[in-house]
Amino acid sequence: MMYTAKSGTHADALLMQLPLQGEVSQAVAKDLIASGYGKRCGCCNKPFTRARKWRAVGRVKHGDPAGRVFTTAWLFCGVCSAAIRRDGGRMPAHLVQEAREAASDGLLLASPAKGNA
Ligand SMILES: [Zn+2]
Repeated sequence: MMYTAKSGTHADALLMQLPLQGEVSQAVAKDLIASGYGKRCGCCNKPFTRARKWRAVGRVKHGDPAGRVFTTAWLFCGVCSAAIRRDGGRMPAHLVQEAREAASDGLLLASPAKGNA
């Protein structure tokens, strides 16, 4: 997963496997924001502001044929998190697609590519 690969610490990878609630949500959100992925709603892509704060953290796990599991996480605004909750907590299809693409990026990052700026 792109985000985990970039942050490059085992602690982050472990964090992503924990249930998303309470303090863990806060920690995942903090990491997303710190890494620059948490500036916009993952669903409607609107930037977060004082008025539009993130309300939920969403994750999709995606396994590759080699059996590796990648996790992609997003922050959602109030409107989108309410819509996802109404849909039984299912991620919108375009986000699942995005997770698949992030996983293939993760595969590229995982392969040896030293000095390939
Ligand atoms: Zn949104």
